[in-house]
Amino acid sequence: KVRVRFAPSPTGALHIGGVRTALYNYLFAKQHGGDLVFRIEDTDSNRFVPGAEEYIIESFRWLGIKFDEGVSFGGDKGPYRQSERREIYKEYVRRLIDDGKAYIAFDTPEELEAKRNEIKNFQYDAHTRLMMRNSLTLSKEEVNALIEDGQQYVVRFKIEPGQDVMVDDIIRGEVHIKSDILDDKVLYKSADELPTYHLANIVDDHLMEITHVIRGEEWLPSAPLHVLLYKAFGWADTMPRFAHLPLLLKPEGKGKLSKRDGDRLGFPVFPLEWHDPKTGEVSSGYRESGYFPEAVVNFLALLGWNPGTEQEIFTLDEMVEIFNLEKCSKAGAKFDYKKCQWFNHAYVLQKSAEEIAALFAPAVANNGIDESMERITEVVRMMKDRVTFVSELWGLCSFFFIAPYSYDEKTVKKRWKEYSAQQMTELKDVLAALEDFSVEAQEKAVMAWIGEKEYKLGDVMNAFRLCLVGEGKGPGMFDISAFLGKEETIKRIDAAIA
Ligand code: GLU
Repeated sequence: KVRVRFAPSPTGALHIGGVRTALYNYLFAKQHGGDLVFRIEDTDSNRFVPGAEEYIIESFRWLGIKFDEGVSFGGDKGPYRQSERREIYKEYVRRLIDDGKAYIAFDTPEELEAKRNEIKNFQYDAHTRLMMRNSLTLSKEEVNALIEDGQQYVVRFKIEPGQDVMVDDIIRGEVHIKSDILDDKVLYKSADELPTYHLANIVDDHLMEITHVIRGEEWLPSAPLHVLLYKAFGWADTMPRFAHLPLLLKPEGKGKLSKRDGDRLGFPVFPLEWHDPKTGEVSSGYRESGYFPEAVVNFLALLGWNPGTEQEIFTLDEMVEIFNLEKCSKAGAKFDYKKCQWFNHAYVLQKSAEEIAALFAPAVANNGIDESMERITEVVRMMKDRVTFVSELWGLCSFFFIAPYSYDEKTVKKRWKEYSAQQMTELKDVLAALEDFSVEAQEKAVMAWIGEKEYKLGDVMNAFRLCLVGEGKGPGMFDISAFLGKEETIKRIDAAIA
């Protein structure tokens, strides 16, 4: 059974690239009838940020990306928070030491620093480990004495030189590297009794029976080490397959997307608004900026993969059907945030007037207007296709609910002729005489009157619009007057010509 995981470290807000990674894991899991696991990798206590875990969970809830097991989701392979798995890691670290695959090292930060100054490009590895203070160079008695004495130590992975390490990547094919270039990575620190990312990650992926590791390209350099760790544990047969996803690039296309690009160009890089508890800084989120979660998900799905057709709008279920991990691109994906706005507009078009009205209604109420849902929906039906965000609606639609209290000067200058007041007085009489105030009935009567008087249609309509809207914008004139009703329409004409 396919089992994949999304394993963030709770070091801050969830970056939009992390959302893309989780989404691809979700799509892959669902299309194989598999499970998606949510694991919290919090072994680096220095970088722990309170609230980050809750933030990440809330983000996925909003986005509609569902996990099958993990922190806050349950499951029988937990605990899923690495800080709660100390004892498990200790046992596996011990195993590597006993098998001669790892060793204990006592070198202090000062000693390491001194070596770095002494040897150019110093790296702790097969060539240097025998010059250092570790269980390969000290006697068993010395090692035990140091430990008993309370000396802090780390456990390092003993990488054998001269090996060809192969990472079989679904997107990149076979990636080969020589083990000589790898250093003896720290797997465990006695100071906090916690493993480092690499060890915890491998032990957990194994114990949680993960079949595919789908993650960002920034982890590709760690993959050879991970392969060696699986081998050292004797787990090569059940090693997960890797897929390293392309980086998200700046909108300009060069360099990795960063939070600063969002600040610079005015788009969010986090799914939800984030209040950084350390700096107090508040960063905008897609949710608070008015994006639909479907639009964000749809946009992200196409960053690094495309279905090879013209179709761009997909439901999550449709994406599950056609997503193809093997067809993901190796090259970075430009983060075209304007395309995300385009998607949001596409979803505004797709959603019913009722759905949009439900989102718009609070803005109407907040402006002190008491309108029925039916009337609000009517306005939305006329206006929604013009906006990218629901938040733009009030600015475009307020005149439906509030009579103009001033008239746009430029429009008046251009469109209000010396005879406009006279025409509007006549128009008022034409409208007042109508029993039926429907769009069609008004149109018929007004056209007949204009024809009879040989007025210019444009002159009349421009003036009429100024009376009802206060400026030169809005949908069809009779749609507006029909919505306002006879009484309000006449009231607004009166006010304008007064
Ligand atoms: N904790 C790692 C991160 O924050 C997970 C990397 C992986 O998926 O192996 O991205």
